Amino acid sequence: MYWDKTHETMDRADLELLQLARLRETLQVALNSPFYRERLQQAGVTPENISSLEDISRIPFTTKDDLRSQGQALLARPLADMVRLHASSGTTGQATVIYYTREDIATWAELLARSMYMTGLRPGDVFQNMMGYGLFTGGLGFHYGAECLGALTIPVGPGNSQRQVQLMQQFGTTAVHIIPSYALYLLTTFAHMGVDPRSLPLRLAFVGAEPHTEDVRRRIEEAYGLKAYNSYGLSELNGPGVAFECPEQKGMHVWEDHFLLEVLDPQTLKPLPPGEVGEVVLTNLSRQGMPVLRYRTRDLAAVEPGDCACGRSHRRLSRIQGRSDDMLIIKGVNIFPMQIEQVLMAMPEVETNYLVELKRENFNDLMLVKVEVREGFFKEDLRHLHALQKKITAALKSELLVTPKVELVEPQTLPRSEGKALRIVDLR
Ligand code: ADP
Ligand code: ZN
Repeated sequence: MYWDKTHETMDRADLELLQLARLRETLQVALNSPFYRERLQQAGVTPENISSLEDISRIPFTTKDDLRSQGQALLARPLADMVRLHASSGTTGQATVIYYTREDIATWAELLARSMYMTGLRPGDVFQNMMGYGLFTGGLGFHYGAECLGALTIPVGPGNSQRQVQLMQQFGTTAVHIIPSYALYLLTTFAHMGVDPRSLPLRLAFVGAEPHTEDVRRRIEEAYGLKAYNSYGLSELNGPGVAFECPEQKGMHVWEDHFLLEVLDPQTLKPLPPGEVGEVVLTNLSRQGMPVLRYRTRDLAAVEPGDCACGRSHRRLSRIQGRSDDMLIIKGVNIFPMQIEQVLMAMPEVETNYLVELKRENFNDLMLVKVEVREGFFKEDLRHLHALQKKITAALKSELLVTPKVELVEPQTLPRSEGKALRIVDLR
């Protein structure tokens, strides 16, 4: 049941001692990088004067801009010691580049093996990795993890949907790694090919890389007849394998022997208690080539209160609600895209794809929500369509406190992405 029982179930007190020791080691390593040498010196931080985990508040934050502008100045070892680089997918601007030593690659693989083993993946499973290979960390990260665990790995990458289905049939795929919006999209391919995904031996899906709601997870589980586990990570900290759901499916365990987790109030930057949503700030505790200290992820989540029934002592992070820079301000009201998804995906009449367009009309913000409705709906009476449109508008208004304009469209008419879904278009 555990890949690494000692570390996964370690007493909190022992885990925190280990974290403190590793934090000090990491500071020592970081001091080899020109960027951190200067930063830490300015802040008066040395490994010796960090004597408790609370002292982390004395370490300056690292931002995406630091990574972009400083580049190789973050390296704590000579470039010749690096064996790989990745770049973040650049969802929110210019990509950041991350370097790994051989040890870093091995540790990362180990963390993903631990994560997938936790959900029940075992040698003998056939793992189809439908995440992008290449600069994006999702593909190779899981690939090395699955090989480390001992699963037969199919390195197919995303896209080419018919082939995905054929590979599943041919090799008896039991586990997939897939972006949630693509998992929903792929269902239309199954339908076109006349294949019922539930008839395949699929039993596990690792879904992540983009925010998604509980309803989306349930839809994936239902349609494919499997268990879907949320997976969180970001290239700045390695890639996937930072936090992962256990069979309880009540939040993602952050691997705290390798990452120091803080959830901070984004305004005051003070720690928040469990249950309160704030900005996730992470510090590498085992990275050799390019340790990153107090990285402001801009991802918003809360620590789940209480212990997990699975016996792991590592704290759990709630679903990521979005990035702080994803927050929309419409008519002065703050809205997160996931609030919209939550309302839409709870409605059985609604298909899996939607698009939100923001416009200015007569000096006013206008939110247009385009929603694909289920096959067959357009053949129905116009009154039904109007009723559904009204129902969606009312539900969105009660959640968002802003009245959107809702447009119903036929299934498969909105643009699709094989990578992270594009849900919001701001034309203001
Ligand atoms: P980019 O920041 O360019 O998208 P990455 O590929 O490193 O680069 O993506 C990491 C980001 O993806 C995270 O910071 C987070 O915003 C998002 N993400 C990753 N996994 C999840 C997940 N399980 N749920 C929600 N968001 C996620
Ligand atoms: Zn658990």
